[in-house]
Amino acid sequence: MIRYGQQDITQADIDAVVDVLKSVNLTQGPAIARFEEAVREHVGAGHAVAVNSATSALHIACLALGLGPGDWLWTTPNTFVASANCALYCGAEVDFVDIDPKTYNLCPNALEAKLIKAAEQGRLPKIVVPVHLSGQPCNMRAIHALAQRFGFKIIEDASHAIGGRYLGEPIGNCRYSDITVFSFHPVKIITTAEGGMAITNDPEVAVRLGLLRSHGITRDPNLMTKPMAGPWDYQQVALGFNYRMTDIQAALGVSQMTRLDHYVERRHEIARRYNEMLDGLPLTLPWQDPDGYSAYHLYIIRLQLDKTNRTHLQVFEFLRARDIIVNLHYIPVHTQPYYQAMGFKQGDFPEAERYYTEAISIPMYPTLTDAEQAEVVSAIKDALAQ
Ligand SMILES: *Cc1c(COP(=O)(O)O)cnc(C)c1O
Repeated sequence: MIRYGQQDITQADIDAVVDVLKSVNLTQGPAIARFEEAVREHVGAGHAVAVNSATSALHIACLALGLGPGDWLWTTPNTFVASANCALYCGAEVDFVDIDPKTYNLCPNALEAKLIKAAEQGRLPKIVVPVHLSGQPCNMRAIHALAQRFGFKIIEDASHAIGGRYLGEPIGNCRYSDITVFSFHPVKIITTAEGGMAITNDPEVAVRLGLLRSHGITRDPNLMTKPMAGPWDYQQVALGFNYRMTDIQAALGVSQMTRLDHYVERRHEIARRYNEMLDGLPLTLPWQDPDGYSAYHLYIIRLQLDKTNRTHLQVFEFLRARDIIVNLHYIPVHTQPYYQAMGFKQGDFPEAERYYTEAISIPMYPTLTDAEQAEVVSAIKDALAQ
């Protein structure tokens, strides 16, 4: 069985985890700051707050930027539901912006057109969440220019994108955003089993993220709102959650970070081989924007349905029957039953819907062998053969 994504766990990872298990602090210990520092330094940003998932990071990122009832958050329909759900957690409303047909990312032109209309109606979004699908960065310069013009905040959902670059700089440095969020789920670029991180250059936002991660409680006298009663004192100054990462996870993350660049290089090598081996088939291969260096979380092919008489479902089922566990990223969020119950309809975002009828994520992970890759390619050729 060859899965579409797969973690890589080395003996060094295992040793790092075991060291924590034998130590005093399983959680709220020193490994958290070490992991935050490793990521913060890698991306070149000011502050990093580790949490128990990217979903939690998105939630507290929205709260830290002041999202609440009466506000709007816009994102792409071509994402995991978490990128939109974070707004609903805050009592805000969600809307979507259709995708660019080449990058499959949120389209800046569609965003501009929608913003102009929203400005007329007095319904501008407070936050826009661009998602770097498959690790390929969105057109952040254009989105950031629109943020300046229309006055919204930006949270980059970079769940796919740690290790990638935009205009020569690491994704996550927040040059064009207020907050960047990473995921460390096992299918992603590096893993902590479950885990996520919120990155920002704004020290006040960082303080709020830190409070929201742990019940809104502080032991820092500078953050207390009444005089400290004694050395035992902690004060709840906001309503937060328990979104903490454990030291066990953070130690795994520190160890994984040492191989991040190698992982992304290997993913590019695999992509180059796919590009060659799949050339000439009735497929659209992933287009790469020259402004970006993708982290290549996913290698997404699109069937050219006018050039084959195989259906999307047939190709998908054929590959799964050959034990190649392909996947589909993503079912457009606005077509989910929960979102349809809110009023979204089929046809609302046609580019994302068309993409969904053609896309297949084929196996892509650093330990995929050349032989396995050849097996995937041969199965795809068989699937498309008459
Ligand atoms: C995986 C993923 C998430 C959620 O990450 P978790 O760490 O599992 O909460 C959010 N957005 C995108 C785009 C993702 O791929």
